[in-house]
Amino acid sequence: MKLLIFIFLFLSSVCFADNNLELLVSPEEISKKIKEVAATIDQQYADQDLTVIMVMKGAVCVTSDLIRQLHIPVTLEYMKASSYGKNGTSRGELRITGLDTLDLTNKNILVIDDIFDSGFTMETIVQRLQEKKPKSVKTLVLLAKKIPRETSYRPDFTLFEIGNRFIVGYGLDYKEHYRGLNGVYAFINDTPPAVLN
Ligand code: 5GP
Ligand code: MG
Repeated sequence: MKLLIFIFLFLSSVCFADNNLELLVSPEEISKKIKEVAATIDQQYADQDLTVIMVMKGAVCVTSDLIRQLHIPVTLEYMKASSYGKNGTSRGELRITGLDTLDLTNKNILVIDDIFDSGFTMETIVQRLQEKKPKSVKTLVLLAKKIPRETSYRPDFTLFEIGNRFIVGYGLDYKEHYRGLNGVYAFINDTPPAVLN
């Protein structure tokens, strides 16, 4: 009997380990949208160079899936922007690193980030990139929150619009957890698991 109870508890903890998560965008929807946007990018940059700059770490999944759907030759670079850090869902100071060593003069740039929230991160990144005299700068985000914003800047490509919730999965983290999930999720009742607090 004790063994049965143990097996039941073990199986339920495995099966329901992520039952605090609510799926917002499925892997199939992401994959379909990435193919569509890749076809548009292929057309827009036909016969031109393209340098993709991946904003670490959140853009890792969308970037790696997108570049594999592109047919045009792409140079991949990366930079880092962080404003959340280890404290989870509360915003800290924006830190941008990794731009100094990039030579972007006269290049077509496509910056890829995970999510467009207030827009401050992407607006700041674009301003910093313009100082490097590229030929063009466009931006792509996996997600944009449907919220009022102070900035009038908008990404050139937004794959999905979502509500104003804290998002994890497909590159996005909560305290460095959940980046490896194949879909986009929010916490049920917008409450992160207490064990991670
Ligand atoms: P923004 O500057 O647009 O307000 O914030 C953009 C950055 O904040 C994103 O690149 C992302 O790293 C982080 N961020 C904003 N909203 C969320 C969210 O709901 N979940 C996660 N994991 N990160 C977010
Ligand atoms: Mg980010």
